[in-house]
Amino acid sequence: MKKVKKQDITRLLSQWQKEFTVFVPSRENGAAEMTVWDGQDVSFLDWYRNTVIPPKANFLLNMEIMFGFRKEDGSYNLELPAAATQKQLVFGIRPCDARATSIIDMVFKDAYEDKYYLNRRENTLLIGMGCLNPYDSCFCTSLGLGPAEATDVDLMLTDIGDDFLIEEVTDKGKELVARTEGVVEATRDDESRAGEVKDTAYKKVTRKIDTREIEKRLPASFDNEEFWEKVAAKCVSCGICTFLCPTCYCFDINDEMLKGDGARYRNWDSCSFPLYTKMPAENPREEKWRRVRQKVHHKYTFYPSLFDVIACTGCGRCIRLCPVNWDITQTLESVPAEAATGTEKK
Ligand code: SF4
Ligand code: SF4
Repeated sequence: MKKVKKQDITRLLSQWQKEFTVFVPSRENGAAEMTVWDGQDVSFLDWYRNTVIPPKANFLLNMEIMFGFRKEDGSYNLELPAAATQKQLVFGIRPCDARATSIIDMVFKDAYEDKYYLNRRENTLLIGMGCLNPYDSCFCTSLGLGPAEATDVDLMLTDIGDDFLIEEVTDKGKELVARTEGVVEATRDDESRAGEVKDTAYKKVTRKIDTREIEKRLPASFDNEEFWEKVAAKCVSCGICTFLCPTCYCFDINDEMLKGDGARYRNWDSCSFPLYTKMPAENPREEKWRRVRQKVHHKYTFYPSLFDVIACTGCGRCIRLCPVNWDITQTLESVPAEAATGTEKK
């Protein structure tokens, strides 16, 4: 393992900035998100717990032009955007968000390969940073993660006092370290200090859910309209929990055209919105409780049945950022043990 002095983080990022567009946690737009590093400011080392906007935004842009088109002589000419080959480095991603990225990769390279997303993924290095001060709303340890776990990233940094311990997780990460000045070999003491720090962080995550029990109970709850109506009562369908969830990836596609020139856009969408499933003949999720049920089942029933992994990392954003304090852990823990009878038929 390697280490770097905390006071040398600017030097480290400056070297990487010559090769990559470096993203770091920032609050410049009001809500913490990964934004392009200005070449100087590393104050995030003091305030950063996690971003409000998850780093999925580095791969699935909240709005992008898929292609332009122009009507000429009765037909349309397409203008495809250049492939996203810009090399990015995301510095400080938390383990929960790195895992979330691996989880949504499965969708974007499944039956249809989404080049827009995958090009960005292939050209990005993830530099993780252990989360030593988790929020009360975090429950990552219930999803098989640890707040300072070295997985799903290229390098993992752990704060061990005056230094960051660096774990080289992938070959890409190892190669990056090999060409970076200011990185030195870690000692046994550094490694055991990092172990202690990680143990302490793990113990700080006190919110727990029993995922085995939930996976057993949840499928039978599907038709329990009474339960879902109760659970959904205070939700105001604002969509925040899904926009800011690192494992939510729904998008909408629109064509805009003016006098023969146009573009196809895609933008984030949310299954919390009443219009999300509106079709000419009907809307199968017009009632709010059906949409809340969909969100929970998608993460804890449907996604595991397709990809063998729960599409939730316990990052806690949907709990701490919901304007009405809707809490997914309370919902999951309150799923009835038995299926209700005489409830919804559809
Ligand atoms: S953030 Fe809260 S109120 Fe908004 S859609 Fe999600 S659960 Fe409902
Ligand atoms: S469902 Fe909530 S806790 Fe789970 S990953 Fe999404 S935002 Fe985080």
